[in-house]
Amino acid sequence: MTKRALITGITGQDGSYLADLLLEKGYKVYGLRRRTSVPILENIDHIKDQIEFIDGDLLDVSSLIQAVRISNPDEVYNLAAQSFVGTSWDQPILTGQVTALGVTNMLEAVRIVKPDARFYQASSSEMFGKVVEVPQKETTPFYPRSPYGVAKVYGHWMTVNYRESFDMFASSGILFNHESPRRGIEFVTRKITNAVSRIKLGLQNELRLGNLDALRDWGYAKDYVECMWLMLQQEKPDDYVIATGETHSVREFCEIAFGHVGLNYEDYVVTDPKFFRAAEVDLLLGSPEKAVQKLGWNPQKTTFKQLVQLMVDSDLEKTKRIIG
Ligand code: NDP
Ligand code: GDP
Repeated sequence: MTKRALITGITGQDGSYLADLLLEKGYKVYGLRRRTSVPILENIDHIKDQIEFIDGDLLDVSSLIQAVRISNPDEVYNLAAQSFVGTSWDQPILTGQVTALGVTNMLEAVRIVKPDARFYQASSSEMFGKVVEVPQKETTPFYPRSPYGVAKVYGHWMTVNYRESFDMFASSGILFNHESPRRGIEFVTRKITNAVSRIKLGLQNELRLGNLDALRDWGYAKDYVECMWLMLQQEKPDDYVIATGETHSVREFCEIAFGHVGLNYEDYVVTDPKFFRAAEVDLLLGSPEKAVQKLGWNPQKTTFKQLVQLMVDSDLEKTKRIIG
């Protein structure tokens, strides 16, 4: 029997890679999509004819109920969110409505229509924020440092609560930062690799960044979506940290990215207070031990250097295509 999956956030970075993976595995894939006046489907353009789209919004429960009815899913992947930490200070209420309450809306739709569907919630390392231990694991207490992180903590605990209250197969993946050529342009990694390509091709001559000493445990999104799927194939629902177990600074990212095209980042990067955060997270470093043991996860499938270089190569190609 063909398995059926419903993905919210299918137009985003992770949703698009997960759709690729599930289509490869022979799933029938349904994607919840927000109506926009001009559809932007860049990440899923190559597979859009293989996906059945359902119009809906995490803020609109009736559309979610309808989406679960239409798709009748075996698996639901709840990836939709206001996902940018920086914006969460400018739009804290919307962030709470979508990234926090939106999870309950989705859980309710599943509980009402298809309670035996397996549910994945996209939790985040931002929940650890001002970290209370290093490295962070599934048992590490949360101390979120942004409205985004606070909203994710709520969504995480609601997922645990529905598992315990209603015996639903609800699992939460606490994923550390993961990047790719499909990452949104405002995130620091993609901002850097896009700028490197434009500087190399003579289209811009500086890159304005915030805190160069910020540390992140950065992995490759394409590798991380495999863990989402694996979590829903286990005998029992559970929570897992997905991370590489290595941490690197924004400065190191710049060094490798500029170095890859024969440039020195110090000649181009300018620090701009505008890009500093109201509150920073200190040292995000995840322990992938449980995922290694239980999911057979390989945290070093793509190394940090390979990740930076593949993102630079992709942006160089894209920029060359744009300028013809
Ligand atoms: P993206 O920002 O690339 O994608 C977010 C998706 O959510 C988009 O498809 C967007 O649709 C959709 N969306 C936003 N608001 C709504 C809404 N109100 N109703 C329906 N859909 C909505 O995020 P990623 O793919 O990077 O991340 C996927 C999930 O994983 C997110 O929940 C994120 O917070 C979480 N996460 C991500 C990490 C990372 O490093 N990437 C780390 C840990 C957690 P549209 O195209 O219309 O804007
Ligand atoms: P986040 O971990 O989800 O917040 O991902 P980001 O890519 O937005 O930010 C990662 C880190 O890079 C944060 O600690 C930021 O403070 C830091 N950073 C430094 N300069 C910039 C910048 O210009 N833009 C962004 N987005 N982050 C920056």
